[in-house]
Formats: sequence, structure tokens, C-alpha cells
Amino acid sequence: MVKKQSSKSGNSSVREVAIDWNKELLPLFKKYKGKKHPLQFQNPYQLMVMIVLSARASDVMVNNLAPEFFKHYPTFGRLAKAAPVELYPLLRVPGFRKKAEWIIDIAKSIENLPAIPTAIGDLTKLKGFGRKSANVYMSQVGLPAEGVIVDLHTLRVAPRLGIAEGTDPKKIEQILMKCVDKKNWHILGMSLTYLGRETCRPKDPTCEECLVKKVCLFNQQKKK
Ligand code: SF4
Repeated sequence: MVKKQSSKSGNSSVREVAIDWNKELLPLFKKYKGKKHPLQFQNPYQLMVMIVLSARASDVMVNNLAPEFFKHYPTFGRLAKAAPVELYPLLRVPGFRKKAEWIIDIAKSIENLPAIPTAIGDLTKLKGFGRKSANVYMSQVGLPAEGVIVDLHTLRVAPRLGIAEGTDPKKIEQILMKCVDKKNWHILGMSLTYLGRETCRPKDPTCEECLVKKVCLFNQQKKK
């Protein structure tokens, strides 16, 4: 889908160009095709719990505590019967105490359903599960995309690239969904988050190594 866009970066210039983002981002899509999310999960249950735990925490921290946690709580059924206080020693981080309540709430909700929800509208009804979480879950368990993952990396990378502007994740997601064909939504989300993790770091992005440097607004402005 070719979009005529007005894109801003900071307070500087505006560009009015027609950009085929499906084409321009293809090098990223190829690079990150098949790449799994950094959360090391074994099944949809573990993924769902780990997504909730990883909100505002590092994936590494969650990966480290996951094996012991899932030894004690291997299923939604077992987790649904727990009290939050029983989870504290396994979650170790005081900031995770609210999340203990959320994952138990999710387990109880899912125990009352015939199956784990598969639509974004149902997933986002679960406690602690917003659109970002639902999009990550859907992309990793092979459900058709209904949105685009927008995490902290995407919030930085998308405006730099000039594909979206602003700081509101919902608005950025809507723009991304308009700029790229639906069949590419999952890979777009994973590509932008990995680009942000590996190349487009908050300080000193390594633009000379970047596969999309030619189309990137930030890079173009840097050279002026
Ligand atoms: S060219 Fe630089 S600023 Fe643009 S997306 Fe790549 S790393 Fe980020």
C-alpha cells in the first residue's frame, strides 16, 4: 500500500512523499522472518503469563524466573487455584506483586472459557493484557494479525523512520496498520522491535549498518 505521508521528526522538517512501506521495509521483513520473540516460552499458557510479567520489566528477568515458576504452576488450572502471596517467592521482584494478581485473574477467566481466546477483542478483556500484549501473543502462536505490536522500541523507531509520528501507542498502531498490508502486520511489529533492540538504539543508533537507512527520515535529516 503506497501512502502519501506528512511525517515530522522532532520540530524539524516535514516530508511529503509517497512511500511504499511494504517495499521499503522488505529488507527488515526478510531479516526478521521467523525470528521468535525473546521470551522463552514452551506453550501458549507460558507465553501469556510471561507477556504479563514482562510489562515494564526485562525479558531476561522474566526468562530467568520462568522455569522455576512453571515447575510450580504448569497450567492455567493450577495457577487459578493459587493465592497471590504464594507466587511472591517465585516472582521475587516486589514490582511483580500486582502482576501476580493479574495472572491469577487471567487463569481464572480462562478456566471458565472453553478455550484460550483467539481474537484481539477477547484477549484485551483479560487483566493486564493490552493491545501490545495481545498482538505479541497472536503473532507468536500463529493467529492471524488484527493489529501491530507497538512496544517502547517501536515508539522510538517508527517516528525516526518517518512511518508514524507522535507518542501515543494506539495512534501509532493505527498509522502502521494503514501504511503496511495486513499480511505484513505481524512481521512489521517484530521487525520494528528488533530494529530498535539491535540497531536503532535510543542513543547513537548505528545508521550506517541499518537496512532501511535510505528511507529513514532521521538519517536523511542527519546528513543535512
Ligand atoms: S537509519 Fe538510523 S535512525 Fe533510521 S531506523 Fe535505521 S538506525 Fe534508526
